[in-house]
Amino acid sequence: MKSLWNEAEAVQMASDMEQRVYSSRLLGGVPELVLHGGGNTSVKITQPNLYGEDETLLYVKGSGHDLATIDADGFAPLRLAPVLRLAELEALSDEEMANQLRVNLTRADAPDPSVEAILHALIPHKFVDHTHSDAILAVTNTPGGVDHIREIYGDSVVIVPYAMPGFELARTCAQILPGAMTDQTRSVVLMQHGLFTFGDTARESYGRMIDLVTLAEDYLASQKAWTISLPDMPMPAAELR
Ligand code: ZN
Repeated sequence: MKSLWNEAEAVQMASDMEQRVYSSRLLGGVPELVLHGGGNTSVKITQPNLYGEDETLLYVKGSGHDLATIDADGFAPLRLAPVLRLAELEALSDEEMANQLRVNLTRADAPDPSVEAILHALIPHKFVDHTHSDAILAVTNTPGGVDHIREIYGDSVVIVPYAMPGFELARTCAQILPGAMTDQTRSVVLMQHGLFTFGDTARESYGRMIDLVTLAEDYLASQKAWTISLPDMPMPAAELR
């Protein structure tokens, strides 16, 4: 997979939010990473609140927005601390999770935050990218998928077993990630779902996404499982019309 990062364009994007928008669009324009409306990204920004106190906000993609065309208004500004506390709960209905995310917004007219917002909160890095990459799904959705992921990435990724997206997945990640992530961790792979990459900069997180997906593509190619060569068949007359 080719990186679409263009440093000449990227340097024009001065703020963290502009960087967030820039690389989100790069990810969103590639159907092998996200289909229309799929995937989500975030950035954590510390800024003064109404009372002049520093507060860290998680700007996460709003539901209904497409990464390919998203702009700053498409990100929902969430107070990070109360969102992280949600992950400590034993159980929470998906309806109440959506409600709690809504009431922890700092802007009343913001879009509903992605249902994967808590996962973005749990990853401590500033920039977080999440895709449902075809290559990752092809590897994880096979028998022995965990072994294949380990063969490709070694210990540089944390593997999370499948859980239903929503609070169940957030809770699973809350139990696994804090003890499993190290300074060497480059990604969190969600079995039968996709992957997260992250970094201190938009470029670092995006670059990791491209690098890790490329490794999965190369692995699949080495197993003769990435391209399918069909035999030459005469086209039926009906399809030539
Ligand atoms: Zn997802």
